[in-house]
Amino acid sequence: MSVPKLEQLSKSVVQGPSLATGAIPTMDWMDVPVVFKPGNYAYPAKSEKVAYLDSQSGLNFPNSREWSPEDEDWKLPEDWKDIILKGLKERLDKFRSLKIFMDCCVRCGACADKCHFFLGTGDPKNMPVMRAELLRSVYRNDFTLGGKILGKMAGAREMTTAVLKEWFMYSYQCTECRRCSVFCPYGIDTAEVTMMLRELLHLVGVGINWILEPASNSNRTGNHMGLQPHTFKDNVEFLVDDVESLTGVRPNISFNRKGAEVLFITPSADVFAEPGLYTAMGYLTLFEEIGLDYTWSTYASEGGNFGLFTNNETMKKLNAKMYAEAKRLGVKYIIGGECGHMWRVIHQYMDTMNGPADFLEKPVSSITGTVFENAASTKMVHISEFTADLIKHGKLKFDKSRNSHVKATYHDSCNTARAMGLLDEPRYILDHVVDWVEMPENTIREQTFCCGSGTGLNTDEIMELRMRSGLPRANAVKYVHDKHDVNMLACVCAIDRATLTSLMDYWNPGVRVCGVTELVANALVLKDENRAELDDGLRTML
Ligand code: SF4
Ligand code: SF4
Repeated sequence: MSVPKLEQLSKSVVQGPSLATGAIPTMDWMDVPVVFKPGNYAYPAKSEKVAYLDSQSGLNFPNSREWSPEDEDWKLPEDWKDIILKGLKERLDKFRSLKIFMDCCVRCGACADKCHFFLGTGDPKNMPVMRAELLRSVYRNDFTLGGKILGKMAGAREMTTAVLKEWFMYSYQCTECRRCSVFCPYGIDTAEVTMMLRELLHLVGVGINWILEPASNSNRTGNHMGLQPHTFKDNVEFLVDDVESLTGVRPNISFNRKGAEVLFITPSADVFAEPGLYTAMGYLTLFEEIGLDYTWSTYASEGGNFGLFTNNETMKKLNAKMYAEAKRLGVKYIIGGECGHMWRVIHQYMDTMNGPADFLEKPVSSITGTVFENAASTKMVHISEFTADLIKHGKLKFDKSRNSHVKATYHDSCNTARAMGLLDEPRYILDHVVDWVEMPENTIREQTFCCGSGTGLNTDEIMELRMRSGLPRANAVKYVHDKHDVNMLACVCAIDRATLTSLMDYWNPGVRVCGVTELVANALVLKDENRAELDDGLRTML
């Protein structure tokens, strides 16, 4: 899908039908229909992927078929409306948070201009308060007395196919980033409303391929690309070769090794695609230097949990796989790589879904003796926590000048920053390995702006939408690029590494994207190194 030239898109964002320009909506929002056209929706899930997921125990993905959002008839089941309303009732009974979010919004508007989709598209229905209203209006109609009696006057409306289509449009124009919830005085988490919308849509067979295909691959082969075990192993071994040729040190690795102390799980994107490959080379270099007793798994070969973007059951099933593998191998604990949504699942949902993981031990670093009390229940330590602890105990020797080709800034990934509070560890690491600066304060830490393409929206057919929703993030990078000559955007999330690369190429050419562990390995002075002249760190072509 082609994307308008930068000048055109910038002009459109400023002059488009945005409340920021004073344009006044001429119709009640309920009367504005959604119009699907190429470029404004992600492709529907392939029939065979839906059927496969539906055939798996504990999962429910009915109504597999070929369909298109542009068609009038979406080939819904005959009783689709009953299915949706029954599904909503079940979820209101099951999730107290949903009931609260449906009832307590006072429409103060504090969240309205905090969403990157609203800022980039100017579409009022992309204001978080409105996004939740798409569901709330149906809730009022069928589950509240006021809505039943007063109807539209009370903000209620009936569930119709037009409403369902609107849900599809706007639940896939939300990256579940939770930035809006930071500003809501009641703590309403619109991301969870979006999650419910997507769950309800799946009940009638409405979902997108860029989520359901990776989810099905993850369930089938252990990683979202569907890499077979031998391919996964080959890829990691290629990276071992690369590290050896650059540093003179060959990392020792093992796969599926029973009795290892640690199971290491990272997003599979790190072992098969740039720029994540360099982050994976960073892990290999780091673990070799400290002599960590660890193993990779070719079965739990994906940290990212695409179930988070579909429904609770799929999220639970994919999360369980990592722990089943840890149990099978008899490791003491798990170290997790640089991933975003993997960590959201671990920190926010794992314990009530699959935990506590009592068959593992409370993580203790065999290198420093540090007990990771924060991981006492999940038994999983983030690589940034692990590395920061190594640095604090003087276990790593750095030569910062090895990163002299880099002037970095740091993007807080939504999930690690807002969902798990991982704010200081990556910064502490960067302080030791590279020259870097912060972006403006209302765009970092808890207030970080999303990359614009998370939660399974990293797909090419909606590239213009992605460039629009990523604009607030790109704008903050542009500020430090212009002011401080920043040329590298560091982050701790594999989806970010993929999405921010496209975003920078579009809005800020010349700014590259990397994982924090890549910068760590660039600066690391290895005990037995025979290092080549690495002008571009681990990216140097010899
Ligand atoms: S900030 Fe919270 S209470 Fe205010 S409109 Fe948004 S969701 Fe509603
Ligand atoms: S969770 Fe993020 S993407 Fe979704 S409405 Fe809130 S700010 Fe927008």
